[in-house]
Amino acid sequence: MPDASITTVPVPLGDRAYEIYVGRGLLQEAGQRIAALGARAAAIVTDEHVGPLYADILARSLQQHGLRTSVVTVPAGEATKCYAFLETVCDAVLEARIERGDLVVALGGGVVGDLAGFAAAVVRRGVRFVQVPTTLLSQVDSSVGGKTGINSRHGKNLVGAFHQPSLVLADTALLDTLPLREMRAGYAEVVKYGLIDDAAFFAWCEKNWQGVFAGGPERNEAVAQSCRAKAAVVVRDEREDGDRALLNLGHTFGHALERITHYNSARLVHGEGVAIGLCLAFRFSASLGLCPVADAERVEAHLSAAGLPTRLNQVAGGCGTVEDLLDAMAQDKKVKGGALTFILASGIGKSFIAPGISVDSVRAFLKDENS
Ligand code: NAD
Ligand code: MG
Repeated sequence: MPDASITTVPVPLGDRAYEIYVGRGLLQEAGQRIAALGARAAAIVTDEHVGPLYADILARSLQQHGLRTSVVTVPAGEATKCYAFLETVCDAVLEARIERGDLVVALGGGVVGDLAGFAAAVVRRGVRFVQVPTTLLSQVDSSVGGKTGINSRHGKNLVGAFHQPSLVLADTALLDTLPLREMRAGYAEVVKYGLIDDAAFFAWCEKNWQGVFAGGPERNEAVAQSCRAKAAVVVRDEREDGDRALLNLGHTFGHALERITHYNSARLVHGEGVAIGLCLAFRFSASLGLCPVADAERVEAHLSAAGLPTRLNQVAGGCGTVEDLLDAMAQDKKVKGGALTFILASGIGKSFIAPGISVDSVRAFLKDENS
């Protein structure tokens, strides 16, 4: 029986097409949907926070539908996206006798999704995988689009593969146990979709954000709408040659802040960097005369209401000098002839790729921000 409270978002990518299901209670019935993919075995990959809460429920549901099941649990946290745990996961998948027709199931946040997805991309030259994202960030962003990978000592996400999942099950009830700070961080990415090209969705967020946090029907709505937005971009530009870059709104500044705080989650988590970055992108656009100041103020007011930081001076332990920020940005982006490519906006829901932004204009803007 189709459940009216479950929303389906298609990702029409030809022979790599898949569906994202969004709603409460998907985990309990995951076996049915996963078994429909026709595998005989599933290797669940999870982390030490998520596993104790949810791995048994998932394993039981898979077994009820005839799948042989195994679980590998890795430590929680960004440091797990590394060569050593890639080896752990690949070997666990092989140990579980996962064949070409079988599945890897990522049960966790973006760390588990990126790591398990990459393992699935390379084990036996590629096995299928299913995403069961358990953070708001992974439900609205990392589980959709097929980017998988690990970090190298040369930087984040530098070793990886495009490998689309065969199915995404976003059970929004799992977010009930997510720490508030992680919830807020994921919410910055939700707001980003409105800011990119959907002013009506941003206005909806301003009205309904409390329901998203409380776990009402608004949460399903926000996750589904975000997945639609991400899926639309991914379908237009699967391998990030063109306008998938719009998804980086707020991320040029955000990544610089993460680099400056040494990816230390005690000081700054990704979504907090994005929240500050979104505000900076809008204020920078306003300072260049591209965007109404009132729109930049609205962005800040909303993120701040949701408990997110919006200013450089809110970074725990500080974010260094303007030159430190510019250096960190130059490492993320190629500076060509003293110019950078930014995602800027001419208003809420009107963002665009802006090549040729001079480092001097960024410097002048940041001097004002940092004073
Ligand atoms: P995460 O996976 O580290 O999860 C955050 C914390 O929440 C962890 O401690 C985790 O154990 C815990 N947790 C997860 N689900 C929980 C639940 N339901 N209840 C209680 N605790 C729970 O972080 P994240 O923010 O989900 O993902 C960040 C990663 O995603 C980064 O590595 C980033 O590079 C990656 N990412 C990838 C893409 C992509 O397109 N592939 C996009 C965005 C981000
Ligand atoms: Mg992001």
